[in-house]
Amino acid sequence: MGAGGPLFIDITWHPAGDPGSDKETSSMMIASTAVNYCGLESILHLTCCDQSKEKITGYLAKAKHLGLKNIMALRGDPVGADWEEEEEGFNYATDLVKHIRSEFEDYFDICVAGYPTGHPEAESYEEDLRHLKEKVDAGADFIITQLFFRADTFLKFLDDCRAIGITCPILPGIFPIQGYQSLRQLVKLSKLEIPEEITRVIEPIKDNDAAIRNYGVQQAVEMCRVLLDSGKVPGLHFYTLNREVAIMEVLRQLGLWTEDPRRPLPWAVSAHPKRRVEDVRPIFWASRPKSYIYRTQDWDEFPNGRWGNSSSPAFGELNDYYLFYLKSKSSKDALLQMWGHELLSEESTF
Ligand SMILES: Cc1cc2nc3c(=O)[nH]c(=O)nc-3n(C[C@H](O)[C@H](O)[C@H](O)COP(=O)(O)OP(=O)(O)OC[C@H]3O[C@@H](n4cnc5c(N)ncnc54)[C@H](O)[C@@H]3O)c2cc1C
Repeated sequence: MGAGGPLFIDITWHPAGDPGSDKETSSMMIASTAVNYCGLESILHLTCCDQSKEKITGYLAKAKHLGLKNIMALRGDPVGADWEEEEEGFNYATDLVKHIRSEFEDYFDICVAGYPTGHPEAESYEEDLRHLKEKVDAGADFIITQLFFRADTFLKFLDDCRAIGITCPILPGIFPIQGYQSLRQLVKLSKLEIPEEITRVIEPIKDNDAAIRNYGVQQAVEMCRVLLDSGKVPGLHFYTLNREVAIMEVLRQLGLWTEDPRRPLPWAVSAHPKRRVEDVRPIFWASRPKSYIYRTQDWDEFPNGRWGNSSSPAFGELNDYYLFYLKSKSSKDALLQMWGHELLSEESTF
């Protein structure tokens, strides 16, 4: 999907592993790979409930080290029904936003979640809006919303946000229906209600995946058109659930798929803040772009304009290219070191 020129992609946070395990989630490494190897501006989601300050600070420091610049600050869903607020703990996303700003100042751009029909646990829609304003006042830069099924729902929410003084950009969360079961599951998890006009159409075709997907595309396109025509939305955020076909079709029909076959440089330009200026690489690494990025990740500066003296200490140890002529056999450990060790999971948690 990177070929379509998205402004950014975002990666959900999974409290991965068995309950109680402190294995790190794979989200961080996926975001890092997207930024460093694929050149995609990325937002890393991060949930804070049931986490210590040290752990959260450690995640953020690692994200910064990896070149990630954007965090979606979330509370997450507490495990177990007996969750209670902790004094000085991360009880709400606002606490995480404050923590990021106090520990990392303006380094990260911060996004928070908004709920066009109110968060299911909130005492009321109005109360939830007030808490959303607290998140923004604590330092969030913009909002991405929970999915919704009617354009009007979002537009009303937007007006209500503006009326109480939330002035930051608010991106609507679009979810093209891609299958009957996945819709049911998502609606259950997010405690949303499917409007009657949608149920009426999809119930009779629930066993026909292609028909459901076609309907989902058409419904999403219509909704996006209304939102874009309102002139009030700065962009659209899509819940892809790791599937690209339907979303690409929606974008094509909206005329928003901007694939450009020309590349500015012979490699994918990294989105890492340090590497953005880089526009020269030694020719003998041309066939090993990933290895080159990995081997040069600790450099403080990257050549631009011209390479200069290749034996300069600024360019580190890059003189073993002749090794490529030997049939190299990468050990599993070396590969794991390069791509990260974290547990990989494709399940979505929300
Ligand atoms: C765009 C988006 C992305 C998401 N990504 C993920 C993800 O990657 N991983 C994941 O596990 N989950 C994810 N979720 C789900 C999210 O974690 C849950 O919806 C969670 O229940 C709430 O998170 P929050 O950050 O919105 O919480 P909060 O903003 O903290 O709000 C939670 C509830 O507490 C209330 N509240 C807030 N402040 C106060 C206060 N001071 N006093 C009393 N009540 C208060 C709010 O009104 C709301 O009802 C995502 C949701 C959205 C919309």
